[in-house]
Amino acid sequence: MPLYEYEALGKTCPLCANGFEVLQAMDDPPLERCPECGQPCRRIISAPRAHSRASDPLSPANLAAKGFTQYRKETPGVYRKTAGQGPDYIKR
Ligand SMILES: [Zn+2]
Repeated sequence: MPLYEYEALGKTCPLCANGFEVLQAMDDPPLERCPECGQPCRRIISAPRAHSRASDPLSPANLAAKGFTQYRKETPGVYRKTAGQGPDYIKR
């Protein structure tokens, strides 16, 4: 489930004073009020931070997108490609 960031629009309580984050399903409607104090709040439009490898800067998808190629040692002397361009296997 992605983590969404909210900021308070009016008065704040300890929860929303510095903004707060809520785990919500993608199709959940945005909160309109702080769950703690009930003051109006709004969802900050940003890419939801998924709790997954997608947020890992060293994930294969991110590495490939930045032009890196990643290999993982499979057996001694054999490296299998996990991201990017290049041969699927390297043998040393
Ligand atoms: Zn609040």
